[in-house]
Amino acid sequence: MPNSDALTTLRGVGPEMAKKLETMGLERIEDVLEHVPFRYENYNSGTVTTAVHGDLVKWSGTVQAEPLVRYYSKGKNRLQFRLLLEERYVVHVTMFNRAFYKDKLALGATVTVKGKWDMNRMTISATDLEFGELADGLQPIYSLRAGLTQKNFSRIVKLAFDQTTTFEDRLPESIRLRYRLEDRASMLRGMHFPDSIDMYKQARRSYVYEECLLYQLKLQAFRKMERSGKGRALTLEKTQLNEFVRRLAFPLTGAQTRVIREIVSDIEKPERMNRLLQGDVGSGKTVVAAIALYATVNAGYQGALMVPTEILAEQHVASLEQLFEPYGIRVALLTSSVKGKARATLLEAIKAGDVDIIVGTHALIQGPVEFSRLHLAITDEQHRFGVEQRKMLRDKADLADVLYMTATPIPRTLAISAFGEMDVSTIDEMPAGRKPIETYWAKTDQIDRVHTMVERELSLGRQAYVIAPLIEESDT
Ligand code: ADP
Ligand code: MG
Repeated sequence: MPNSDALTTLRGVGPEMAKKLETMGLERIEDVLEHVPFRYENYNSGTVTTAVHGDLVKWSGTVQAEPLVRYYSKGKNRLQFRLLLEERYVVHVTMFNRAFYKDKLALGATVTVKGKWDMNRMTISATDLEFGELADGLQPIYSLRAGLTQKNFSRIVKLAFDQTTTFEDRLPESIRLRYRLEDRASMLRGMHFPDSIDMYKQARRSYVYEECLLYQLKLQAFRKMERSGKGRALTLEKTQLNEFVRRLAFPLTGAQTRVIREIVSDIEKPERMNRLLQGDVGSGKTVVAAIALYATVNAGYQGALMVPTEILAEQHVASLEQLFEPYGIRVALLTSSVKGKARATLLEAIKAGDVDIIVGTHALIQGPVEFSRLHLAITDEQHRFGVEQRKMLRDKADLADVLYMTATPIPRTLAISAFGEMDVSTIDEMPAGRKPIETYWAKTDQIDRVHTMVERELSLGRQAYVIAPLIEESDT
């Protein structure tokens, strides 16, 4: 049986700690065991004579002289002491703002420090200090939320292991034997506390195998379910559809025409469409979506377009309104800024079928919106979503066709394995006259060149944008 005990049953895990763990989706002991490190630090366990300048080292030794502390302004301080390594070499250790260690670093005490090796000064700039001998192996680094330290979490993992007596293997023994995979207990132990790189590699091999196999099984189950799912065949007005396409501001590329044929033929079939549309940024996926939406609405049904951000939703609404206005097709924007009475009226209109196309973020449209006759759900940048979300969307849009658009290039073979239950259409051609996009990778020490380039573009009246990763979910 997996260990489904609550984390608070672990010694030293109180309600407050449990709450922090819960924000990471960890509620039961088995969840903690499943939360494996995302990388490991491999400290140079070499010796003073083999380490080179700048190496990250983790060494143990004995304290040689009473530590000195210097205090600076604003409560900052620096701790320094001498450490005897390998019973022969005396090196210096400096640590900032750890004055509190001073009294604990008794002469002759054994400590392990971890930090950067300055060979010229024979000094370790330490970031971490532990009392006692160096523990062997790789240091696991977990992905954690604010308020949890690596040390804390490692301790919780150890407790979780101590309190788990049986591990349930997910893979049948026949497969484990055939592919020389580890049982679950050794696999998880090897992931959390590898004594050596070899031990880690063995564990990881089993871990990856299990993950891939389960993913594939899930996809196949999903696909099987799909196949049995009923759809609805729409009758499309081909003359009107061709006319709509002819009136666009530009002729379609060959690739666009080809994928539209694939999509239109799906819409006409009684099976549900489940298609991934991939094409680079600027390859013209939006107009393909618009044509599919037009065909759907013209056949008497509603369409929904889901995008990752509200800004994108607003942009899409603006361009779709312009495109559809001459045809009397009604487009509505559903974002979290649509509130109160306006929202109630809009939801009512969607339910009554007074709105033909709804554009909004995924969360909104997957939420408590009722459609009167939704037939086509299109989602943009689908690569951000997993199998569960895809299933959720399909459950929402009963009988409806679903089209997922993405600009993330996925090699065909990978697309089939990651999106195994879907058909794939690819726009592999850019509209004529496009300048090719050039991509560069600048390293940190080239930041001045990047700034100069941005300045130059701005002075020419052009624009630039900077994307920064969002480390933790936040409303602001
Ligand atoms: P994507 O969503 O694939 O990144 P868009 O659909 O936003 O790309 O298209 C990018 C731009 O190219 C838009 O301004 C669109 O109007 C234009 N465009 C799309 N298809 C064509 C085409 N066949 N010929 C000329 N311009 C096109
Ligand atoms: Mg796009």
